Amino acid sequence: MKILKSMLTTTALVAFSAGALATQTIAQDAGFVGISMPTKSSARWIADGDNMVEQFEAAGYTVDLQYADDDIPNQLAQIENMVTKGVDVLVIAAIDGTTLSNVLANAAAADVDVVAYDRLIRESGDVSYYATFDNFKVGVQQATTLVDGLNARFPDGKPWNVELFGGSPDDNNAYFFYDGAMSVLQPLIDAGDVVIKSGQMGMSEVGTLRWDGSVAQARMDNLLSANYTDANVHGVLSPYDGLSIGILSSLKGVGYGSGNLEMPIVSGQDAEVQSVKAIISGEQYSTIFKDTRELARVTVGMVEALLNDAEPEINDTETYDNGVKVVPSYLLEPVAVTQDNWESVLVDSGYYTRDQIE
Ligand code: BGC
Repeated sequence: MKILKSMLTTTALVAFSAGALATQTIAQDAGFVGISMPTKSSARWIADGDNMVEQFEAAGYTVDLQYADDDIPNQLAQIENMVTKGVDVLVIAAIDGTTLSNVLANAAAADVDVVAYDRLIRESGDVSYYATFDNFKVGVQQATTLVDGLNARFPDGKPWNVELFGGSPDDNNAYFFYDGAMSVLQPLIDAGDVVIKSGQMGMSEVGTLRWDGSVAQARMDNLLSANYTDANVHGVLSPYDGLSIGILSSLKGVGYGSGNLEMPIVSGQDAEVQSVKAIISGEQYSTIFKDTRELARVTVGMVEALLNDAEPEINDTETYDNGVKVVPSYLLEPVAVTQDNWESVLVDSGYYTRDQIE
């Protein structure tokens, strides 16, 4: 078993202090975990942080949780600071998965283990495990609901005009979402059932830096004015709810969803409250629910395994090559959500209360 830095601290505290402080510290001596999250601008990462704090503390860990405001130097400084504070393990959801190599080499030198959380950390051998969802499947589900919606709302509309949005090009997940979605859409494009009028395809053309909803909104404005003055758009592949909300604003701005101009089918991801409300009202068509409580559970298990020389829950040892090694991973199942199942998936599971979304 790894000698915990936090245990050394505990011993010192027991030796030099008495009473409540020592008792409290002993109760939290399973280890010291630094959790580095990208941003609070999206509710999902807040839920991720909260769930992990709750579950790590329940298992006896001390936790340092930091959010980096989507600023790369900020995230690097926060991680360095955690190493200095003596964490035993780092759990990191990277802003840019390629920027951490040096910081993680320093962490490894200080005997700090690393778990990549949700997003793969690239170009580093100093990553032990990766806890995430089946990201390719997320993309498949996004495109499948998009096509289902096109069939339902525009049954006589073929060929359907569709525009594509991708996630942040510095996030490994964005490529998996895009590739998963294109595995469904490309055959329809080849068959002439789906037309990308703008011609903009591929992550280099459709990516959205930092997953920024205002960037997506501005791009949708441009797509509409350049390609849809004498044609209607029927569907938009959106990889994340924050982008979907921006895309919907742009569409509403030119009259979609009112009069006889039907709202296009718009996908999403993360089941964020604003998007679930938009699904219920019929504006957004779908989202993908990723249960962050489960992701926290898997991550706690990986940390426990690292600190106790045990084997964690792993179900994929092939998919996530980070450029230096294939990182052993656990992939959770994403769930597609539409008007048909939001109640059972999101409310009956206890993820949201009805009040939060109605
Ligand atoms: C996550 C998605 C999220 C996106 C934007 C991705 O790495 O996997 O769940 O929508 O980042 O925050």
